[in-house]
Amino acid sequence: MANLFKSIGFLVLGIGIVIYLGSYLILDFTDEQVKTSVHPLLFRIVAIALTLLVLGYVLSFFQRAGGMLNRSKCVRCGKPIPKGRIYCFDHQQQVVEQYREKLEDLGAKAEKRAKI
Ligand SMILES: [Zn+2]
Repeated sequence: MANLFKSIGFLVLGIGIVIYLGSYLILDFTDEQVKTSVHPLLFRIVAIALTLLVLGYVLSFFQRAGGMLNRSKCVRCGKPIPKGRIYCFDHQQQVVEQYREKLEDLGAKAEKRAKI
């Protein structure tokens, strides 16, 4: 959402610049009537672009701040952990050990079955 605002803001700003440069090439700015008709339009375009850009950056700031608050926690003890992890270091080792024991148990049972 924040990136969308930023993209549209830059797009509108780009359109404003193109219109500004284009109007310089096509229109005669010494003409007072042209000045009074083009400048308010440009002012409005730049205002819209800046509003969208500011909105985009404010939103992305809040998203980042929210991400800091919603940091991952270990499922077992609640310790803060890096993003994408499920357990803290100690509990991860514990879980790996338990899984290994389970596998060895299964292996032993399979061996027994093979002997019978
Ligand atoms: Zn833990």
